[in-house]
Order: sequence, then structure tokens, then C-alpha cells
Amino acid sequence: MRIGVLGGGQLGRMLALAGYPLGLSFRFLDPSPEACAGQVGPLVVGEFLEEGALLRFAEGLDLATYEFENVPVEAARRLAEAVPLYPPPRALEVAQDRLREKTFMQGLGVPTPPFHPVEGPLDLEEGLRRVGLPALLKTRRGGYDGKGQALARTEEEAREALKALGGQGLLLEAFVPFEREVSLLAVRSRTGEVAFYPLVENRHRGGILRLSLAPAPGASGALQKKAEAYALRALEALDYVGVLALEFFQVGEELLFNEMAPRVHNSGHWTIEGAETSQFQNHLRALLGFPLGSTASRGYSAMVNLIGERPDFGEVLRVEGAHLHWYGKAVRPGRKVGHITLRRDGLEALGEGLAQLASLLGDRLSLLGDRL
Ligand code: AMP
Repeated sequence: MRIGVLGGGQLGRMLALAGYPLGLSFRFLDPSPEACAGQVGPLVVGEFLEEGALLRFAEGLDLATYEFENVPVEAARRLAEAVPLYPPPRALEVAQDRLREKTFMQGLGVPTPPFHPVEGPLDLEEGLRRVGLPALLKTRRGGYDGKGQALARTEEEAREALKALGGQGLLLEAFVPFEREVSLLAVRSRTGEVAFYPLVENRHRGGILRLSLAPAPGASGALQKKAEAYALRALEALDYVGVLALEFFQVGEELLFNEMAPRVHNSGHWTIEGAETSQFQNHLRALLGFPLGSTASRGYSAMVNLIGERPDFGEVLRVEGAHLHWYGKAVRPGRKVGHITLRRDGLEALGEGLAQLASLLGDRLSLLGDRL
């Protein structure tokens, strides 16, 4: 079986690495000849909408999927005419637009922060009345890792943000004083079988995910059930196949939906060593209609993203339970170039290991876990 992956970044690379034990082979399509998945499988270099590239990529594939969420929906639809493509392009369409995804989830009865579409100054005034302050003005499309959004504490700041973000194609969203951010990775197979990983706690630095703790410390069984029920509605409404990541703000025992990613997700990297079956393998099993593997966690895991930094590999590997993943990308400021998953049997031991990692990454403990 040959699987085509739209996008050739680290997610594609890890998908292939999880698929080789099942005897699968892979091909990637990416606009960059440097795409790091090219180190582990054939890479077709071309724009997603370039007919010739898409055809060369599709030739002889049995199945296709994506690892990059901003693949043009048009390219996905064209590909889906030639090859079975999962998750369905509609999921991509919904997830690419912050307004659509929130409206979609709200329509399924899933709580979200109050929001209002903004196409100009009048909408902004209306939005300010409805949503209140402080609020975030966000671009509907294209923003990621905290880009394309501005915090407004006053009406004046909101008006300035409107100008700075281009005046249209935006949404105004209430600022949520959340306790923490959590994500749920759900997977649904072609056969309809579903499975959910334990909730994960995510901490960001400069808008980029820095640390995931799994299972999310202290998350109640009821909270897990609530997240699963929300995810199930999305999976079914989209007739979804593959891994779907949902991000929430936790406020007490409430979960407010923030965004979704129709693909394997950074907050699921811990599953490679920390769960019985990794998100990558389960994504592939789902596409192929194989039985899904257990999503149970094996002890406790912390996943630390390496962002624009290359630690001493020997030092990292000396930390008991540390697993290093280096993506083979050039190191640039702000770029995710690898991750470390620390897996331990107990939370206390995990905290000790994290302290060791924090000191060798030059990171202060305030981020890596003054509280586990
Ligand atoms: P987003 O790209 O929409 O996921 O936003 C990036 C980050 O900004 C989130 O992970 C949160 O840390 C923060 N953020 C986004 N929306 C809100 C909100 N409504 N209230 C508080 N913080 C938010």
C-alpha cells in the first residue's frame, strides 16, 4: 500500500515512521525541496494547486491524507477525485476558518467563547457590545501559533487592532481567563470505530506550544467524558476518518472549544512512547480500516518542543526516560525542529526529570512545571 501525504513536514515524517512497521510506503507533496519528510520517503516538490505536481503525486497511490492543515481545499477536492482521501476535505474546510469551526461546534451544542464575525467597523462595534472586553481580534484564516491575533483591553485598542489586522475577515472573541489549555485527540476509523486519548495539558511560550503533559494532571473522569462527547459529535457530523485534535480552554469543570486540527497534532507526539499506540499509527489504522490500537497511556509523559534550539543530544539522552526526536530541519528562531518526550511511571519522577531537562534547555521551571 502506498499512502500519499499532502505536506512534507515533521508530522508527515512521523506518520511514515509509524507506517513502515505495517509495510506501508509513502510519498509526500510539498512546495519546499527541503521538506523534512523527504528524508524518509520520496518527495514530490510542487505547489498543492499545480496540476502537474498533483498528478505526479497521485500516480499509483492507494490512499491519501494530509499533515498540513492549510492545504488549499481545492487541491484536496481534486485529489479526492483520483484517490480516496481522508480526513474528508470538508473537515479541512471547516478547520481552516476560525469563524466556521466555532460556528460548526456551537451548532453541535459545544460551548465556545462568545464570538462575533467582523467585516468592518460597524461589526466591530456590534461585536464589542456582544462580546465585551477584554477581547481578542483574530483573523479567520491563516493564523497559527498565536499569529494573526491581537488583544484589546479597550475599545480604542480594538479599533487599532482592526486596522492592524486588515479590517475584514476577522472575528472578535471574548478573552477567556482559563485555568489551562487542554487538547483531546480523537480517532475514527473507516469502519466507524472510535477511540480517544487521555486529555493533554498544553503550555505555550510566545504563542507556540512548548510543553504538553499527558495525561493532563488532575483531569477528572467527568472532564474526559465531556471532551469525548464533544469530539464524538464532531467526528460523526463530519463523517470523519483519521485523527482529529480538539483544543479547549478549561474553566473549572467546563471546556470551551477553541480550535480543531484535522490531522495528527503536536499535542499528541507524546503518544509515540507514552501511549500503547501512537497517534500516527492510529491515524493510519483508521485510514486503512484496521482495528484501532489502545489509546491507554503508559505512565506519565511530558513532551517538550525544541523551538529554534539544538540541545546537546548526549545530555538529553542521559536523562532517564527521555526520548529525542530530531526532525532534520535547519535550526531557525521560532521554528519547531524537534521534541523530547519524557516518560516516567509516576508524576513525581516526571517532575524530577523535567527539572533536569529544564536546566539543560536553559528554560526556567516556571514554564516546565512549577505545578504538575
Ligand atoms: P489560537 O491560534 O486561536 O488557538 O490562539 C492561540 C493562543 O492564544 C491560544 O492557545 C491561547 O493561549 C490564546 N487564546 C486564543 N483565544 C483565546 C481566548 N478567547 N481567550 C484567552 N486566550 C486565548
